[in-house]
Amino acid sequence: MNKARQILHLDLDAFYASVEQLDEPALRGQPVIVGGVSDRGVVCACSYEARRFGVRSAMGMLRARQLCPEAVVRPVRMGRYRELSEEVFAIYRRYTDRIEPLSIDEAFLDVTGCERLFGPPLKIAAAIRAAVKEETGLTVSAGAAGNKFLAKLASERGKPDGLVEILPGEVDSFLLALPVASLWGVGRVTAERLQQLGLQRVADLRKAGEERLAKLLGSQGVQLYRLSLGLDERPVESSGRPKSLGHEETFAQDRWDHKGLEVELLAMTERVASRVRRLGLEAGCVTVKVKYGDFTQVTRSASLSSAVSSLEGIYPQARELLGRTESGRRSVRLLGLTLSQLQPAGAGQSDLFGQEQRTRQQSLDQALDRVRDRFGRDGIVRGTLLPERSGEPSDDGGE
Ligand SMILES: [Mg+2]
Repeated sequence: MNKARQILHLDLDAFYASVEQLDEPALRGQPVIVGGVSDRGVVCACSYEARRFGVRSAMGMLRARQLCPEAVVRPVRMGRYRELSEEVFAIYRRYTDRIEPLSIDEAFLDVTGCERLFGPPLKIAAAIRAAVKEETGLTVSAGAAGNKFLAKLASERGKPDGLVEILPGEVDSFLLALPVASLWGVGRVTAERLQQLGLQRVADLRKAGEERLAKLLGSQGVQLYRLSLGLDERPVESSGRPKSLGHEETFAQDRWDHKGLEVELLAMTERVASRVRRLGLEAGCVTVKVKYGDFTQVTRSASLSSAVSSLEGIYPQARELLGRTESGRRSVRLLGLTLSQLQPAGAGQSDLFGQEQRTRQQSLDQALDRVRDRFGRDGIVRGTLLPERSGEPSDDGGE
């Protein structure tokens, strides 16, 4: 017999749209659609207020606007979503490192054996939901059950902003009435096929039995039968920490101003380093990428003397790498920065003096991260790192 597993499924509610509402309080309570802004665009996400009008993700923007003319449409801001997603995943990691991300806003956590430290799964899920709400302002729905399949069904039932647990004795009452389409791996085609065979609900699959389903659908039939019993042995597959983090920007117009690009690079370093810190990591290598106006590109990399995550530790090196490109002499259409060889913070640190300096630096960086959370990313940049301005004030509109 397998030891009972305890799995959580966590899914941020209407994630992209919720981030827009978080960053722009006037949008709260309003129908918000995120996606391609032109009429040929597609809906990537929509707030629950927009869903009430029938708007769904993957729908054409034209249709969405017809259904809900008063909706506010915002473009996708992937960088910002990634930032918040990393913050949320860092909260998950306080409880377990057995985390399987399914997407930017969804993950399985295996909390088997965490009971002595953190309490039963329901309590862990409640604590995570509270921390996410308190620290990021976002709501995450949670499902708790003995396997991935049931945990995901549970969180769906909890949406939005809910927590649902399926205990072993409750599996049948939860499962049997569901339509077959709610089972893992049953897409539209399989669902139609099953309907034609008179198999509408999970209870019908169970009644049909393994043999008949195997005859009808082969190995998928066997799998469906197991799911109809509430069985799912797939482990939570954690992917480990990221190997690199980066950011790049394509400019609206090609740029010749080397000093201006240094400022862009500074903002970029600040941003990526902050993501590295949030994950409790440090970088051993920095890479700068430049794509010229004629679309040819170069990358320049350097090892950092010791693994660091501070702006002061990274930016001088990054600026030097930019200086080794033809920036200023050729037009530049894209600038990028990547931090790699990521490792847990403090991993290779021994001497006391360095340790003390590091602690001071870290608390400064963390304080800056907090200020930035409150006032926006571009609110502050340390003056000593700014390259000398060449007179003209640069337009610093952010993204
Ligand atoms: Mg979601």
